[in-house]
Amino acid sequence: MRVLREFDPWRGELCTCPKKFSFSPYTGCGHSCLYCYISSYIRDPFSPREKKDVLRKLSMDLREIKPGSIIAMSTSSDPYTPPEEDMKTTRKAIEMIRGAGMRLLVMTKSDLVARDSDLLEKAAVSFTITTLDEGIAKILEPGAPSPLKRIDAMKKLSGRANLILRLDPIIPGLNEDFESVIEVAREAGASHVVSSTYKAREDSLKKLENAFPWLKLHELYSEGTRISGYLYLPYRIRRSLMEKVRKITLNLGMTFATCREGMPEMHSPGVSCDGSHLSSVMIRDAFV
Ligand code: SF4
Repeated sequence: MRVLREFDPWRGELCTCPKKFSFSPYTGCGHSCLYCYISSYIRDPFSPREKKDVLRKLSMDLREIKPGSIIAMSTSSDPYTPPEEDMKTTRKAIEMIRGAGMRLLVMTKSDLVARDSDLLEKAAVSFTITTLDEGIAKILEPGAPSPLKRIDAMKKLSGRANLILRLDPIIPGLNEDFESVIEVAREAGASHVVSSTYKAREDSLKKLENAFPWLKLHELYSEGTRISGYLYLPYRIRRSLMEKVRKITLNLGMTFATCREGMPEMHSPGVSCDGSHLSSVMIRDAFV
C-alpha cells in the first residue's frame, strides 16, 4: 500500500485501538500544537503540504483493502489543516472512501470539517478540544481554530455524523476545566469521550516548559515512567485525572474510554477507545 497504512502507533504497548488504516492527505500540520509529537519524525512538521499524487494512490490502495474497513483520518496531521480550505483534497478523499464502502473516523481540531457535512453521514467525527479557555488554547494550539468554533462545527454536524469529544492531552495544572468542556460538547451532540494525559517527548516538553514555566512539567514528568518512547506522568496522577473525567462523562450519560493509559477496565462496555465503533459503512456508490 502507498498512502493507506495499517495503524501502528510505534508498536505502542498500551494501544487498544481496533484494526484500522490511517490516511493523511497532507504531510505536516499547520495547527502547530505545542504538545504535538510529529516534529520527532516529520521534516518541516508545521508546514503542511499535500502528499504527491495522493488521490491516485488512495484510489489504488482502496482496492486492496476489504470494504467495511475502518479508515482513520488522520493520525499524524489534521485532515482539515489550513491548506485544505482551498485544496479540498480531504473532501475528495472522503468522496472516494465513501464510494468504496469503508467506515470513516475523522479526527480534527478544525471547524472546516462542517463544510463537508453532506459527505459525513454515518461517519464518526472526533473533535479534539483541550480547553475552553481561549487564551490558553491560542498558546497551546496557535494555528488551530478556536475551541468555540469547534463547538459550533459540532452543532452543525450533530444529527448527521456521530460525534466524539477527544479531551487529549490533559496537561496537569493547565487545562483541568474538563467538566465545562464535556458539558458543552455533550450539548453540541457528542456521545463519547476519549481522554488521555500528555505523553511527553523531549522537544514538545521543552516547548511547553517555555510557554508555561510555572507548571514545572519537567519535575513532574521526571517522577514518571518511560513507555514506548514517551515519558508518562506518575500512575497515581494519571489515574486520578482519568477517574475525574470518567465520572463527569458517565454522569452526563456519555460513554468513556482512555487512550494509551493502560486502563482499559475504565472503558464503557462495548466501545472502542478511539470512537470508531460510532462509524458505520458509508454508502457504496460509483467508486472509480
Ligand atoms: S492538530 Fe494534531 S497533528 Fe496538527 S499540530 Fe496539532 S497535534 Fe500535531
